[in-house]
Amino acid sequence: MPDLTYRDGAFHEGLALAYDAGTGTITHVGAGAATDGAVRLPGRALIPGFVNAHSHAFQRLIRGRTQWRPPDATAADFWSWREAMYAAALELSPDDVEHVSRFCFVEMLQAGITAVGEFHYLHNDRDGARYADPLELSRRVLAAARDAGIRIRLLHVCYATGGIRQPLSPEQRRFTTADLDTFLADADALAAAAAAEPRAGVGLAPHSIRAVPRDWLVPLHEWAAARDVPLHMHVSEQSAEVSASVEKYGMRPVELLREEGLLDERFTAVHATHLTNFEVRLLAGTGATVCACPATERDLGDGFLRAADLVEAGVAIALGTDSQTVIDMLEEARLVEYHERLQRMRRVVITDAVAGRLHAGPPLLRMATAAGARSLRLSAGSLEPGAVADMVAIDLGHPSLAGCSAGTLADALMLTAASAAVRDVWVGGRAVIADGTHTLQEAATRDFERVARRVFANS
Ligand SMILES: [Zn+2]
Repeated sequence: MPDLTYRDGAFHEGLALAYDAGTGTITHVGAGAATDGAVRLPGRALIPGFVNAHSHAFQRLIRGRTQWRPPDATAADFWSWREAMYAAALELSPDDVEHVSRFCFVEMLQAGITAVGEFHYLHNDRDGARYADPLELSRRVLAAARDAGIRIRLLHVCYATGGIRQPLSPEQRRFTTADLDTFLADADALAAAAAAEPRAGVGLAPHSIRAVPRDWLVPLHEWAAARDVPLHMHVSEQSAEVSASVEKYGMRPVELLREEGLLDERFTAVHATHLTNFEVRLLAGTGATVCACPATERDLGDGFLRAADLVEAGVAIALGTDSQTVIDMLEEARLVEYHERLQRMRRVVITDAVAGRLHAGPPLLRMATAAGARSLRLSAGSLEPGAVADMVAIDLGHPSLAGCSAGTLADALMLTAASAAVRDVWVGGRAVIADGTHTLQEAATRDFERVARRVFANS
């Protein structure tokens, strides 16, 4: 058994955990001697695998390449970053998409991420035409997830307009959704393809209110509701999106989504950076999740999430690595709390009560695990019988954790530990990272670097 096991919001000594290798689910967590098939992990603490609820894997390619601006540009922002991202997206062949995705998923597994919500909007060829198999690139992402061994919810992205009632720009031609019927037929085909894969499933993702006509929202919601799959959408990441919504629809984005009936327990609002008090209350009443991506949001200068207000209202906050500016769920989680501290000039803002004290670590661990599982509708995110055996072993001997005890580990892990303390990772009971290493690591890195060299040959 591990030295410490995370269960019911705290680390416990002396718990044995066993899983069924056939079904990939946990069968036993309890006190006492290890039973047959129990996980043996001296010097390790066992936690549920992290769930990365919002990712664009191909954007891993531009990490480190957008941290500059021309001397004559007064400012760089989300919109100038987006131009660089579009330029890279236009270069990728199907092989490239698979290689970049595979490398990105291996990096996620190394960071303890066992499930990913891949918000996939690259659909067409470089000229903007549909591939002979319209699911060509989606299948490549599924193959990359299968090879890496990560659990995936492939969120099929609908992207039809370049702004509210505006045509797409030529740079957006690979994302184009031609019409709603074709899009939903593709989604049905994708669901069948994912069902044939291990550890894969689908969801829908109207990209944003900028990119999807208002009268498509209800049929997209109905498709997701009928299949009980996640419905994700970028919401209020930028203040320009909010003002366009007010100008064209006479209401703010969350108000519009409520009006169209999209907000329910299957819905996740990604970012939700620019919310009014009224929008916070609207989200709270519906069971919708907010997915924060604070490492990306700080990189892009998007603004601060109203995390404490959302938590107080009862809204679950999941986390995503989004643009892959870093792949580190500990970092994403602690930024949610640290951004609140910086703004409020206070410490220990978002808390759970544990043994008579209010602690910051447990709610952050919940965001990185159970809230993500809720957002992707997975029976993951906690170590309990019946849940999938998606697990991460933390090295208690790592220097960043020296001196920890059962009572301090949740805070130390979530607020201060290095991501390298993640040493072993299982997905559905299958070991994918052993002592920090993935078997595909060298090959995946080589393929990724070859793509990067070619795409950026002139820069
Ligand atoms: Zn995104």
